Amino acid sequence: MTYQISVQSNGLSFAAEPDETLLEAALRQGLTLPYGCKSGACGACRGHIARGEIDPGPYKPFAISEADIAAGEALFCCAHAKSDLVVEAAITRGAQIEAKIVPVRVEALTPRAPDVMEILLRLPANETFPFLAGQFVDFLLPEGKRRSYSIANAPEKEGVLELHVRKVSGGHFTEQVFSTLKVKDVLRLEGPQGGFFLRESDKPAILLASGTGFAPIKAIVEHALATGDQRAFHLYWGCRKEADLYHDLPQRWAAEYPLIRYTPVLSEPDAGWTGAAGFVHQAVLRDYPDLSGYQVYACGNPAMVDTARADFQRLAHLPEAEFFADAFTFQ
Ligand SMILES: Cc1cc2nc3c(=O)[nH]c(=O)nc-3n(C[C@H](O)[C@H](O)[C@H](O)COP(=O)(O)OP(=O)(O)OC[C@H]3O[C@@H](n4cnc5c(N)ncnc54)[C@H](O)[C@@H]3O)c2cc1C
Repeated sequence: MTYQISVQSNGLSFAAEPDETLLEAALRQGLTLPYGCKSGACGACRGHIARGEIDPGPYKPFAISEADIAAGEALFCCAHAKSDLVVEAAITRGAQIEAKIVPVRVEALTPRAPDVMEILLRLPANETFPFLAGQFVDFLLPEGKRRSYSIANAPEKEGVLELHVRKVSGGHFTEQVFSTLKVKDVLRLEGPQGGFFLRESDKPAILLASGTGFAPIKAIVEHALATGDQRAFHLYWGCRKEADLYHDLPQRWAAEYPLIRYTPVLSEPDAGWTGAAGFVHQAVLRDYPDLSGYQVYACGNPAMVDTARADFQRLAHLPEAEFFADAFTFQ
């Protein structure tokens, strides 16, 4: 039995088998939609079921509530069709770049902040690795474990992938990055992944990063600069302390490019800090009480992403469809 899924707003349709998620079915047929963790935790692939019956699948209650599900909401990375469906979701035509598995060699390990390591990976010489600025890769670790990291460089920089990895105390993978991983080590990764990339639009964009959420934002800005994009960007980067901000690059962008503004925000500043303080998304709301004419790209801490999404829509009239995010959820 194959079900027919129709997208209400744009008339697109695709087929879904009962044993595949709505996300898998859409991607398989060359459609794109935002997604992140693929495990019901980040909420990036959320959509509305206007008609028909689904099995909502193993979603995480912090990503979508039972009440939301009862009201017809669904996470497309978990939900399976149980009948033909009419859905409302950001599903568009446009080939997703197919993910592939490649071996990569560690070329450099550079500490960027007390708990952030920049890893530069060299791709095999005969291998092309197309990706969209903002996407991420999954390391394939022993025992079937995977860990996701956003690519921090633009695709224009060929042959290498730059990642920014924050140390998680007791973390299975990140502890190794800070102790045993060394130059010339070989790792396996699968990518590119995810639907976080700059959409075509004339609207100015607010770029919102917390911690290593700066990585895909860096890729997006570098790609925009490389392609001569005339979008206006205002980057807000939230960290705890000044030492956590490795921000010579965004400071240079703001000094050199009139269309780029940069505001660092510290949640636990020391006495000498004269810049913005508090939650990073609140600094945006102070500067932009009306976001109705903007797009927002948010990345990093899942709580920051969720709160920003809710507050920007509720308090500053940001259209729901203009918020794009990658939340760094964890197992
Ligand atoms: C789409 C996506 C992109 C990502 N991109 C990046 C990136 O660019 N840079 C980056 O540093 N991370 C990123 N992450 C997070 C990353 O994938 C790992 O989850 C993280 O590095 C922890 O891995 P670990 O194996 O060291 O910890 P684990 O062994 O998975 O976790 C150990 C313990 O720490 C807790 N924990 C794990 N992560 C956190 C956290 N962030 N905060 C608090 N507690 C935590 C877990 O619940 C667990 O109890 C991304 C995640 C996703 C889903």
